[in-house]
Amino acid sequence: FETNVVIILAAVFFALLFAIGLNSLARCALRYVGRGATAAAAGEGGATARGACRGGGGIKRRVIRSLPVEVYGSGEDIDGVCVICLSEFVDGEKVRVLPLCGHGFHVRCVDAWLVSHGSCPTCRRPVLEGAPAKSE
Ligand SMILES: [Zn+2]
Ligand SMILES: [Zn+2]
Repeated sequence: FETNVVIILAAVFFALLFAIGLNSLARCALRYVGRGATAAAAGEGGATARGACRGGGGIKRRVIRSLPVEVYGSGEDIDGVCVICLSEFVDGEKVRVLPLCGHGFHVRCVDAWLVSHGSCPTCRRPVLEGAPAKSE
């Protein structure tokens, strides 16, 4: 009989573990869905924001490469520090500037970031919103 009790206890224990795991999984999924819904609700002109919103993940390399690059020290109004690697820009260094918010980062840093994220590391604004910004 005692063996049975141990087996039942073990089963209950594993069931609990399983439930906890499921619970955190469900929470994760819920949070993800919630974020997606919020983003979709907040997005204006959602029909044209296909590139930025697809999958809620990163941005295509082709699109990343099309983002503007400035050379630091040429009078551009860019924060002096790359928040991804936390090092200061050096004059002559290439800085990728996000068109919507104007935040700048090292090209290599932000490219790696954008492959898996669709938003600015500093202000979390989407990198692309609707049609690509036209230069004035
Ligand atoms: Zn950097
Ligand atoms: Zn930003």
